[in-house]
Amino acid sequence: MRAMVLDRPGAPLELREMPRPEPAAGQLRIRVEACGVCRTDLHILDGELSEPKLPLVPGHEIVGRVDACGPGVAGLAEGQRVGVPWLGHACGQCAYCRMGRENLCDAPLFTGYTMDGGYAEYCLAHTDFVFPLADEMDPVASAPLLCAGLIGYRSLSRAGDNLRTIGLYGFGAAAHILCQIAIWQGRRVLAFTRDGDTAAQDFARRLGAAWAGGSSEDAPEELDAAIIFAPVGELVPKALKSVCKGGRVVCGGIHMSDIPGFPYADLWMEREIVSVANLTRHDGAAFFPLAHAAGVETRTTPYALDQANTALKDLRQGRVQGAAVLVP
Ligand SMILES: [Zn+2]
Ligand SMILES: [Zn+2]
Repeated sequence: MRAMVLDRPGAPLELREMPRPEPAAGQLRIRVEACGVCRTDLHILDGELSEPKLPLVPGHEIVGRVDACGPGVAGLAEGQRVGVPWLGHACGQCAYCRMGRENLCDAPLFTGYTMDGGYAEYCLAHTDFVFPLADEMDPVASAPLLCAGLIGYRSLSRAGDNLRTIGLYGFGAAAHILCQIAIWQGRRVLAFTRDGDTAAQDFARRLGAAWAGGSSEDAPEELDAAIIFAPVGELVPKALKSVCKGGRVVCGGIHMSDIPGFPYADLWMEREIVSVANLTRHDGAAFFPLAHAAGVETRTTPYALDQANTALKDLRQGRVQGAAVLVP
């Protein structure tokens, strides 16, 4: 099979011929139909996430069809369409797993980070951690749901209750999905983009955002919560100033530049700053029906597998509206 491989952080991915992986007990081999390109992939390539499996096939927003089942696999047949998310495996035994917080597992495996992912024609996945997807779903359009969508959903569920007005900082793949869901739920969405990115601001307004502007601008109204997807630590104190008493600032990314100091008065009145880590299978069970009910339409830019470096570069430079998706 063809795969795009990372040999060491800082190097570009290399197109390589590799043997098709053989599924072990409890695993599936999946023929990849589409794989989204996530900002986390950039953090892995840049060495900001330490100790990846090397060499590594990145990619954790995988949509494909079951191609072969390892020993002991039940309930999924060859040809079934599935989605593979970032959480590739959790131990099921640590304190976090036992309390239903497998996103915090002490011994997790992450797709496209500590196990090979979907920048390839085939990949392996642990059967218990894939999501069955409907046949009629479009693979390219669905790929961004597997991380951008799920993490956005988890970020919103961590943002508090009774949210009327939310601010989304960074209007890329995650925000463009979450914006549609939040508006469908009857909330007001304020979109903060890179300063001067009028294309992203227009995009946000077309998706129904009540206001869109640059992230250095002050929020035009008080926010009940802010969700930060941009990997920019300066946005945390900025967003904190915009949330109401008791309001939360949710950091949705896996990596962020350092957060500058700020006066305690900005946190006072039970404002909170929280992070979101990974996902649980329960998130998937809740999110996919919600995305379907809300009629979420993703905006995607497809790239051929061997164009992965171009896709990553475009994402880094903010040239992708919506989500970049590799199509092997
Ligand atoms: Zn665990
Ligand atoms: Zn991701």
